[in-house]
Amino acid sequence: MFRVGTDLPGISVLSTLIIDLHTHSFFSDGALIPSELVRRVGTAGYAAVAITDHADSSNLDHLVPRMARVAKDLNAAQPVRVIPGIELTHVPPDLIPALVKKARDLGARLVVIHGETIVEPVASGTNRAGLDAGADIIAHPGLLSLEDARLAAERGVFLEITARKGHSLTNGHVAKLALETGASLVLNSDGHAPGDFLTEDLAPKIVQGAGLPSHAFVQLQSNARKILDRLGL
Ligand SMILES: [Zn+2]
Ligand SMILES: [Zn+2]
Repeated sequence: MFRVGTDLPGISVLSTLIIDLHTHSFFSDGALIPSELVRRVGTAGYAAVAITDHADSSNLDHLVPRMARVAKDLNAAQPVRVIPGIELTHVPPDLIPALVKKARDLGARLVVIHGETIVEPVASGTNRAGLDAGADIIAHPGLLSLEDARLAAERGVFLEITARKGHSLTNGHVAKLALETGASLVLNSDGHAPGDFLTEDLAPKIVQGAGLPSHAFVQLQSNARKILDRLGL
């Protein structure tokens, strides 16, 4: 359920360490090696970050074990919790279920679907395929349908409010449908380079800019925390 600021006693926006469940390293099209990405977000006030590089069947088996390895190493040596994830990107909808399963089998703790932004030719049906396949997050779902938002609510799949240029054009629509249907939202940077990541100053403003109340940021971070809890982190 999306609840606005109801269940987080004692946590204020300013004291909330950021959780960001969608970023890219140079294992796809990001600028940073995972260790630098984690170090930079750690100094920016992050509590946890998922590295979710772009994948299809060509590189899934290359990416996931490497992310799992570096996450294990970094989690033993520094304070930011690192989640090895993947973003299935422009995968034809019919192929998504098998790749979600394969990603998990390979060790991905978080599976993000590159949703139907309005600024790219993402195949129609991608959002639905991700929901049906039990992905964790539909990233930048664009002009998703009311029916898909209802499915997200029913199945506990999170919808993304994004800081990413272009992808963020439909944040207001996504927020509105989440409020209507009870789907849960998370705020992610989709960061590819230094300067893209969330800050404690900007993050609540992005949430507010999506048409949500100013204190909804705390709720979205609580939703992200629920994903970490589900992962045992
Ligand atoms: Zn994406
Ligand atoms: Zn992305």
